Amino acid sequence: MNVILSGPPGSGKGTQAELLVSRYHFVHFSTGDVFRDEIAKKTSIGIMAEAYVKEGRLVPDEITLEITKNFIIKNQNHSIIFDGFPRTLPQARGLDKILSELNGQVDFVIFIELSDDEIVRRLTARRICSNCGAIYNLGFTPPKTAGVCDICQAQLIQRTDDTETVIRQRLNVYRNQTLELKSYYENSNKMHIVDGSAGRDRVHQAIIKILGLA
Ligand code: AMP
Repeated sequence: MNVILSGPPGSGKGTQAELLVSRYHFVHFSTGDVFRDEIAKKTSIGIMAEAYVKEGRLVPDEITLEITKNFIIKNQNHSIIFDGFPRTLPQARGLDKILSELNGQVDFVIFIELSDDEIVRRLTARRICSNCGAIYNLGFTPPKTAGVCDICQAQLIQRTDDTETVIRQRLNVYRNQTLELKSYYENSNKMHIVDGSAGRDRVHQAIIKILGLA
């Protein structure tokens, strides 16, 4: 089963992907996580992607599609959650092509919707574990000890692109380049819309119902 989690930055895609992976048999593919990892390791992809990620712009499609293809080939026998990918029409078309070459397809596309004000509120309070990537929100899912990950006790950090200016830029990019994916997927009966303001557990329940896992 191949599931796309789409929606604006901060709508909870990563959190929902983590929940699905921990409770069901999915592997998680987050292009954002891949780019942050490559940047930290200073690989050639990381060096190229750094300025885009820092400024909240999209990394070029060819590179994004290449890392996606490599991941899909390595995980051919798994159900994949695509988190933050595709983000452009060429990426959506590219994904369909990669999957069809492997006799696969996109099975579900879930758009998590959230207002801009709530997004800014959530993202400025978001903290990430520097070691395991667990996601916290200082407002509604704070860690037990301030600044420390509950799971692995590593330090929590704020993503450099979680500042209000970069968040607004990412929202513009979402509106201009990603939102049109809704019409791309609308004609198939694969697309579903979920209200991201409902809270983590209710959003999770809505998603597993859509996926037929409830
Ligand atoms: P995310 O963690 O999904 O919010 O992504 C963080 C940043 O990584 C984005 O603002 C982009 O710069 C880059 N990025 C992530 N996914 C993609 C994608 N599918 N296409 C292009 N750039 C991406």
